[in-house]
Amino acid sequence: MFKYYTLFLLLATALANPLPPSPIASCLTDHGLNVETSQDAPTPFNNRYIGITPAAIVYPAQTSDVAKAVQCAVQHDVRVSAVSGGHSYSASGYGSQDGHLVIIFRDMAQVLNYNSDDGVVTVQPGARLGDFALELYDKYHRAMAHGICPYVGLGGHAGFGGWGLSSRNWGLLIDQIVGADLVLANGTSTHVSRTQNADLFWAIRGASSSFGVITQFTMQTHQAPASVIRFAYNFINPSGQALDPETFASIMHAYQVWGLTAPKEIGIVANVWQEGKTIEMTGYYTGTQADFDRVIAPLLSGTGQPSTAYVQERDWIAALTEADGGSSLSTKGTVEPHDTFYAKSLVVPSSSPLTVDALKALVHRYASTPPPNNMTWFIQFELWGGGNSVISSVDAGATAYPHRQHHWTVQFYGRAATASWPSQGTAFMNGLVNAVTDNMQGTRFGAYANYLDPELLGWREKYYAGNYARLARIQEEMDPRGVFMKADNIGAPET
Ligand SMILES: Cc1cc2nc3c(=O)[nH]c(=O)nc-3n(C[C@H](O)[C@H](O)[C@H](O)COP(=O)(O)OP(=O)(O)OC[C@H]3O[C@@H](n4cnc5c(N)ncnc54)[C@H](O)[C@@H]3O)c2cc1C
Repeated sequence: MFKYYTLFLLLATALANPLPPSPIASCLTDHGLNVETSQDAPTPFNNRYIGITPAAIVYPAQTSDVAKAVQCAVQHDVRVSAVSGGHSYSASGYGSQDGHLVIIFRDMAQVLNYNSDDGVVTVQPGARLGDFALELYDKYHRAMAHGICPYVGLGGHAGFGGWGLSSRNWGLLIDQIVGADLVLANGTSTHVSRTQNADLFWAIRGASSSFGVITQFTMQTHQAPASVIRFAYNFINPSGQALDPETFASIMHAYQVWGLTAPKEIGIVANVWQEGKTIEMTGYYTGTQADFDRVIAPLLSGTGQPSTAYVQERDWIAALTEADGGSSLSTKGTVEPHDTFYAKSLVVPSSSPLTVDALKALVHRYASTPPPNNMTWFIQFELWGGGNSVISSVDAGATAYPHRQHHWTVQFYGRAATASWPSQGTAFMNGLVNAVTDNMQGTRFGAYANYLDPELLGWREKYYAGNYARLARIQEEMDPRGVFMKADNIGAPET
């Protein structure tokens, strides 16, 4: 969840060249599929990967189109990758490299059905989170827990977790999946649910792209709250400098301690902005103003009074919109945003919360080592666990996503002001993370596969922990030829 969406660079997006005719493109065309022939195809959200050249791009309109496309790829020995919203951090929807058949769900982005008896919605993977939230609310007064950046696609987001400000209350997006249709590596399609292909159903809830191309989800929706209490507290160093290490650590430590017992109805993040000058604690609470006041009081008594405070009762859509910085949730008819960035994550076990020394070391690091020219950064401390969080109520082995007894997911996000990534940018971001981990040697931090980090060492353990071995067995059985293989897929070598 990034508030500052509007800061993202808006660049002209086109492939460098039209895709040339190729045997796989002919196969796709012969099957009557909609194949990209111009330069106008969507490009990855992250400008760092804008030069990737697919073997071909196809826009399916139905599941059978996806099946035909996979069959063509198998016939021509081309790997297959799916794009729903294109917001992968490392263009993994494009295979993160040249030469994949890229299946773009641009034309499969609809809510197909809503069942008012059980609140289950059927939706295609190309739906963007903002449009999906609007449609659920406007037509059915329903809602789900998911990230709030409007342009993120349901297909990728629901593949690896899917966290948002309602996730402590309703779970990750994967926890709300009831079933899915997917096309397998052999070009057939199947349905998965708790009772049908249960192993595959387990695997797609945390590592979906390794097992097939999902063409449809069924998901459990929730009654949308009539209103929520939106809040944002800013802690700002009046001197205009970064908050000093003691103050920063004291505020963040208070946030961490408070989070241990915070009720699930509160969704909150702490953002470190402006080179550490500001900590912003923001989110929303589902309940009354009086209950919110009771819940937030111990946090503020631990942190001390914030420099600014905003607390307002807002309706559901207004709260989602504000949480993303205030622009519309609708992506229809807008220009796709892009950014040039590299991000990392630390998933912090509840059993070893961040120490005061580790928090101070982080400040020392960024206060003493400025980022390269043309680069800015922010850090987001997302509260996933604590109290009676629904995320933590799920067993670590119940879905492929393993990090259930974890307090925070901390995202470190570095952004370049231009389309080219500074050569020292990656080392700078690694330095921020290392400042924390070097201080807590012995702690087994995880990482979040939706914040995909192509440089991450030991990613099998960090993303999938104890679930990796089972995922690898299923992947070997379902895709022995590696039709869906790419970096960071189950079975891919570790770098
Ligand atoms: C600006 C921004 C804000 C974000 N905010 C949040 C947030 O608040 N919470 C959060 O949890 N995450 C967040 N993320 C991370 C986001 O969840 C992931 O990047 C997600 O994977 C993007 O999904 P996508 O469909 O847009 O991406 P894509 O690039 O289309 O796909 C990502 C991955 O999913 C696979 N995939 C896509 N569609 C399918 C399909 N139909 N079948 C099988 N595999 C498929 C792709 O092959 C690829 O491996 C954010 C990302 C960005 C860029």
